[in-house]
Amino acid sequence: MQTFEREKLYLPEGQNKLLLHSCCAPCSGEVMEALLSSEIDFTIFFYNPNIHPRKEYDIRKDENIRFAEKYNIPFIDADYDVDEWFKRARGMEDEPERGIRCTMCFDMRFVRTALYAHEHGFNVISSSLGISRWKNMDQINDCGIRAAAPYDGMTYWTFNWRKNGGSSRMIEISKREEFYQQEYCGCAYSLRDTNNWRVQNGRKKINIGVQYYSDEK
Ligand code: SF4
Repeated sequence: MQTFEREKLYLPEGQNKLLLHSCCAPCSGEVMEALLSSEIDFTIFFYNPNIHPRKEYDIRKDENIRFAEKYNIPFIDADYDVDEWFKRARGMEDEPERGIRCTMCFDMRFVRTALYAHEHGFNVISSSLGISRWKNMDQINDCGIRAAAPYDGMTYWTFNWRKNGGSSRMIEISKREEFYQQEYCGCAYSLRDTNNWRVQNGRKKINIGVQYYSDEK
C-alpha cells in the first residue's frame, strides 16, 4: 500500500470492529486504506439497490470487490433489491439530489446495514458515502444515526472522511487503482438529471462502462 500521512483513527466507545457500508470503490478506497493504516478490523457491506441500470451496478460492485480482495478485506454482497427501491421512490422521481428521495435512499441502505451489523456482532457502522463532496454529510449522518438507534449499544460513526486531505487522497487512490469513474450518483433519476444537464451544457450523454480514472485524462 502506498503510504500517506494520516492521523490514527479510533472507533467510538473503544470499539475496534466496524461494518462499513460501501457505495463504490472510488469513495471507499481512501476510507479502506485509512482504516487499514489504523489497524481497525472492518468488513465491507455492499448494499446499493439504488444503482441503475444493472450494468452500472455490476461494474461498481465488481470494482469494489477487486479492491477488497487486494487487501483481503471481507466483503458482504447483499441483495440488489431494486424493485423495493423503486417502490419506495414512488412520488419522489422529480426530487433534486440531497432532497427527500436521497433521505429515503440512505435510510434504506443504512437500515439494512444496521440489521446485518446487529445479527453479526458489529457494534459500530459507518459508510463511505460521506466522503463525496456532492453529498450532504449532515443528511447522511442523520440517516446513519437513525438506522443504528433501534439497537442497544450500536453506534453510527460520523467520522468526516473528507478532512485532513481525505478528499484528495480519494482521487489519488482512484487514479492509482484505475477505478471505474461513475459520473452520476446512482439511481435512474440521477442518471436522467445528469444527462439533461450534460445535454444543456453541450456535452455527450453518459456512456456507461466507459470512463475510468487515469492520470492521462
Ligand atoms: S440521487 Fe443518489 S442518493 Fe439520491 S436517491 Fe438517487 S442514488 Fe440515492
